[in-house]
Formats: sequence, C-alpha cells, structure tokens
Amino acid sequence: MRSGEKVMYKYAQVIIQFATLPEIDRFFTYEIPEAFRPHIRVGQRVKVPFGNHNAPQVGYVAFLLEEIEELGYTTKPLMGLVDEAPIINSKQWEIIHFMVMYYGTSFAAAIDAVLPPGLNAKPFSLEEEETYVALTPDTKEVTLYTLQNQHKKTFEKQRLLLNYLKEKGPIRQRDLKTQEEVSLSSLKTLEQKGLIRVFKAPLSFRPDPIAEEKFKILNSEQSAAKERLVQKIRAGEYGVFLLKGVTGSGKTEVFLYAIREVIESGGQVIVMVPEIALTKQTLERFQERFGNQVALTHSRMTPKERQRLYAKVARGEVTIVIGPRSAIFMPFTHLKMVVIDEAHEASYKSEMNPKYHAIDVALKRMQSEEGVVLLATATPSLESYYKVQIGEYEELVLKSRVGEATLPEVQMVDMRLELREGNNQAISRALHQGILETLERGHQVMLLINRRGHSTFINCRNCGYVIKCHHCDVSMTYHRSRQQLECHYCGHKEKIPETCPGCGSSHIKFFGSGTEKIEEYLEKYFHAYGIGRMDLDTTGGKDGHTVILEAFRKREINLLVGTQMIAKGHDFPAVGLVGIVSADMSLYMQDFRSNERTFQLLTQAMGRAGRSHIKGKVIIQSYNPEHSVLEAIRLNAGEAFYKEELANRKLLEYPPYGHIFTVMVTGKSEKEVIRSISLLGNYYRHYAQRAKTDFRIIGPSVATIGKLVDEYRWRIIIVSDNREKLLVYGRYCLTRFEEQEKIKTVKMQWDIDPLTM
Ligand code: ADP
Ligand code: ZN
Ligand code: ZN
Repeated sequence: MRSGEKVMYKYAQVIIQFATLPEIDRFFTYEIPEAFRPHIRVGQRVKVPFGNHNAPQVGYVAFLLEEIEELGYTTKPLMGLVDEAPIINSKQWEIIHFMVMYYGTSFAAAIDAVLPPGLNAKPFSLEEEETYVALTPDTKEVTLYTLQNQHKKTFEKQRLLLNYLKEKGPIRQRDLKTQEEVSLSSLKTLEQKGLIRVFKAPLSFRPDPIAEEKFKILNSEQSAAKERLVQKIRAGEYGVFLLKGVTGSGKTEVFLYAIREVIESGGQVIVMVPEIALTKQTLERFQERFGNQVALTHSRMTPKERQRLYAKVARGEVTIVIGPRSAIFMPFTHLKMVVIDEAHEASYKSEMNPKYHAIDVALKRMQSEEGVVLLATATPSLESYYKVQIGEYEELVLKSRVGEATLPEVQMVDMRLELREGNNQAISRALHQGILETLERGHQVMLLINRRGHSTFINCRNCGYVIKCHHCDVSMTYHRSRQQLECHYCGHKEKIPETCPGCGSSHIKFFGSGTEKIEEYLEKYFHAYGIGRMDLDTTGGKDGHTVILEAFRKREINLLVGTQMIAKGHDFPAVGLVGIVSADMSLYMQDFRSNERTFQLLTQAMGRAGRSHIKGKVIIQSYNPEHSVLEAIRLNAGEAFYKEELANRKLLEYPPYGHIFTVMVTGKSEKEVIRSISLLGNYYRHYAQRAKTDFRIIGPSVATIGKLVDEYRWRIIIVSDNREKLLVYGRYCLTRFEEQEKIKTVKMQWDIDPLTM
C-alpha cells in the first residue's frame, strides 16, 4: 500500500451489542456495501441483520478485512452505520481483548464496561458544537444609522450588544445570555439586518495553565520519590511504582508533581480513588493546580453527564480524570500515567461482570501505551508487597509525616479484663477517659465501629435462640431509631418480638454494639461537645457524608462515630484520639485475607490521629489483644507482619503465590443446590485427574453466607499456581456440566482472583 492511499475493506467482523448468550458472543462477519467502505472504521457502531430478528441489531466493528477465508456461509451485507465516527478507540479495543482473554468475560460485557451508560441505537457524536455570535465582516464600524427608527429601549440594548461584540469578538451565545440582557428576538433582528451572524462551530477549548505557584516545596523524601518518577516519565517507558507512605506523609503532593510532569510533556492521566475517600479538599487540590484540565466522574452522575464527559475526553479537552475503578476505561489517546490512590482498596475489583480488577487493567494499559502506574497507599496489599519483593514494582517510601506531625501512640485494652472488673459497656474505662481528656483539651475524637445499627443481634437467654433474617442466614440488627430489626444483606425489616420466637421466654437480650448504641452512650456523657454519626443510615442522601464531614471540620461536632467509612483518606488536623471500639469482628471472617484487611483498616484508622502538631493517640479495644495482627499494630511491626503473612500464604498456595477460581451455585431449593454442586464437584475431580495439573479442589462447602435473599449458596474453590490453565479448566468443567446435566433449578457464577470469599 502506498502511503496516503486508503485501503477499502470489504468485510467487517462485528460483535453484537446485546449478545447475552455465550454462543453469540463472538465475531460475525458481514460484507460492507461499497457506499460505506470509505467511511467504516474499527470501533464504529453498525446496524446489521441478525438471526431471525426483524429489526437490525447494533454491532461494534472489531476488525476490518480485505478478504476472508471460506466461512461456510454467505455473508450478509451490513445495513448502515450508527455513528459517523468510531466511539471506541484502538487503545480501548486492546483493553477489551485483554479482559476477554484474562478474565474470560464476554465481549459484550467488556464493551459495555468501556462505554458510557445509556447509549441506544441513536447516533452518539463525540463532537460537540456550540452556537456563536459575532459581528459580520462589514459591521466592523458599527453604523448606528441602521438601528434608528426603533423603540428607544430596544435601540439601546442592540447598540450595547454590538459594542460588546466589537470589543470581545466571537462569543458563545450562552455566555452572552448570562452577561448581557440579550433576547433571542433582538439577536434575530440584528441578524436579519446583516449586522451580526449566529453560527455553529466546534467548541473552542483552551486549557487553563498549570498554577505552578500552588505546588508545595517538597521535603527530601518527597523529592527523592518525585525525581525517580520524573526520570521514568521522561524516559517514556512502562514502569510500576508503589508509593508507600503513612497517611499524611505527603504522597498526594508527590503525585501532583508527577502528573504535572506528564501533562507538560503532552500526556494524559487517570487518577483512581475509592469513591468514599475523595474529599472536597482533594478535589480542590487538583483543581487549584490544573483548573479546567481536571474532570471528575462518580457514581451519582447521570448517563447523560457520563456521555458528555466521555466525549470530552475523546476530544482531548480533559487531561486528568479522577474517578472510581471505571475511570480506567476513559477514551484517552495519550494516556501516560495511571495513579491509584489507596491502592489496597477492595473496591477496585468489580464484583459484577466483567469482574475485572482496575489495577490489572491499569498495568495492561500502561504496558501497551508505555506509561507509568503509581500505586499509592499506606498499607499495600500483600500482592503489591510481593511484587516489590520480586522486583516487578519499584518501591518509593515516605517514612515520616510532613511537618511536625508524628505517628500516634497505641494503647490496647483487653475487654475481657474490663468485663471481669465489672464494666459491661462497649466503651472501656480507658477509652472513656481518653475521650474525655481529648475533648477537654479542645481536640477531636473519632470512634470506629464495624457495625451500623444499634445491636448486632438478639439472643434468647433461656434457649439461645438468635433472631435471623427469614431470607438470609445472618442475624438481624436492631435499629433503635426506627424501632425495628433489619437485615443488612437484603433489607428485610421486622418488628421487635416481645418474647423469644423459640421458647416464648421474655428473657431476650440485645448483644453487640452498633453505631447507634455507641452514639447513645456518647450522647449521655459527651453531649456538650457535639456528636456526629456516619454510616450508611446517615449518609443516604446525595451529600450525606459531606455534610457530616464538613460539620466535623468546622468543629460544630467534635466526636465522630462511624463505620469504616470514617477510616479512610480524611485529613482532620484537630483529631487527637482515634478509638477502635472492637478490633475483633473483622478478624474472624472466614477469609484468608481477614488478617490483612484488619491490619489495613486499623493502620488507616490510626492514620486519622495526630495529623498536625497534636500528638495523636489510638486506643484499640479487643477480646483477643494477643492476636498477631494486633501485636503487629501495637509494636508498629508492619514489615514483620507482611513477612509472616506472606509465609502463610505460600504454605497454602494462596495469592499472591497461587490463583483462585471459585464457582458458586445458588438456588431456592437447598436440596437442589447441594445435589447440583456435588455433581459439579465430580466433574472438577474427574477433569483434574485427566489434566495432570495440580488443581487443589476445596469443597463443595456452604458459602460464608449460606443463604441470601432466599437463595441457598454453596461453592467450590480451586487453587493453582497456573492461572491460565486454572481459568481454562475452571470454565471447561462448568460448561461440560451445564451441557450434560442441563440443570435448570440452580444458577452458577464463577470468578477468578476473587477478592472476597
Ligand atoms: P498523603 O497523601 O500521604 O496522605 P498529603 O499529600 O495529603 O499526604 O499531605 C498531608 C498534608 O500535608 C496535606 O495537607 C498537604 O498539603 C501537606 N503537605 C504535603 N507535603 C507538603 C510539603 N512538602 N510542604 C508542606 N505541606 C505539605
Ligand atoms: Zn428462647
Ligand atoms: Zn436478609
């Protein structure tokens, strides 16, 4: 092909948009009618005839071909183009192919993840036009003569407008409306007189300059980290960095510099944040430096807003997108860096199809686009820690906090002793005293508790009966404010029984403490200082959590009690004490990651104390203070904890050493679920023997939550160090099982590298 000459492709391979069935989630080849050949490109949507549907179906062009091999069927011509231009760019296509290969997800689901929501079969244009108003070329010297013979007031208005346009040049009509009192009719009149023209043109976009004076002078640790990043960015190579630093050590300042470096060399950046951790201040820190080059995406945006942002990014009018995991799919064409803040957060893994992990996708994207991935966290995941050990990631460490801030002192309280000495409250005497002293000193307190509601469960003292949800195998939570019992998994609500449903005894008792109960206790003793509660119940509204956090920042309240929501990312300089009401709950989850999670949560929560000149303190209450995780926290022995945890994982071949594939079988009939999963287990064992690969099959066993919304849940876990074979094997057995057994009464779901078990 000579350069400049365009190949005319004759065939298009297309993915059908609503390919819900696995059989049709593949490429279908269509002939391209000659009229469309000059216009068609990969990533474009087309209308195609499909199956016995009368209406044309929407499909995505994945490949264009000049010739095709014998297909065994005659190709049908495609019927038309949906959009004028591709809406998926080539970098995004690579990611789609990657997700299909790596996660075994469907093309349709992968494409769906990449595109903004709410697209229908109507054209979606990435271009945006604006209406402009300008003087006509011969109105340079405005002759007011033409304007006379009019009502005085109209005349005055028109004269003002003409002068304004003369001064400003072409201007967007909507800006005009807000600045001058211009009515559509006077614009019309002036246009008819040939004095102005109203026309449409592509939006002219001018990026704000970077506000260099807003960047802080870095300390030596920060500088060293920044220099290393800048070096890599200038080299234009792929690289992954783990920026590890306690909260408040100035990680954000470091990556703001790295982002600036990328932008100055013409690159674009995605910054991922767990939704909850993105505070107004963080956003402001970006905006004051990068102005209109920054855009934000979040789950409360409407489909229309998301589509507009998508188009803006595609046009290159945004250089930085900040958002949750889905931001990784943004249609940038010069993406050179992905920052993942709080990189250990589980929310970066999607639990719905496609079940991707945003870090995997970021690595893949930067590998092919030759850019840098920066994972920032105080508490790396064990996977990241391991990747540093084996040299896949480069570690950059910030050891100390910025300025005068120092790490808090940690105090453990043994709750067994507390009980023995006659205090059966959820708040120990030490914590009570700590709260009082901190508040009296004029500082603030944060209390972390893992459960919302009032009491975690209700139990009969006579027969031991525990009130559980009718639909789920979990105990009901007492919500005092609403005077009812609630299931936190399905939302089922019930009246509070007066007697035990098991034996009729009236000796029923509320156990465990939720946020409400703690709040009640605090109200009793510390009311005067102002108390706020932050959990799913109080943050329901659009700005629910911002309102509470603002009140805390403004010191309208000085005591904040909440679920893990409060542990993350926030920077409140006046917090002197962080109390962990119970460190035990997350330790006893049946999940091999529970130690890691607890360590992370506690470290994060500790990070909220003593963020300025105030010496911070942390009080941790536990019924098991000797536990290795709590020991590690108390002794500030994070490194030793990671080493030990890694050794445990190696022993069991768990991640990061091995990979996990899970299949969950669910259904309304417990008998059917058990029967099906037993059969399925046979398939796995059978093919494992034939495959001669070491697959470790665990189960079938009942899932952590054995019943959820009236469905029984059983699962099989398979472990192997060969991810590729594991994925093929895991899916193959499932397919064979489905084909041969044809069981319709249960549903099956699988996942590879799940984060929760
Ligand atoms: P992290 O992201 O590690 O939690 P931040 O970057 O948010 O830390 O920094 C914590 C606080 O210290 C912020 O208020 C930030 O503005 C400030 N800060 C960070 N680096 C510097 C610096 N070099 N000089 C002055 N203030 C700084
Ligand atoms: Zn009873
Ligand atoms: Zn329930």
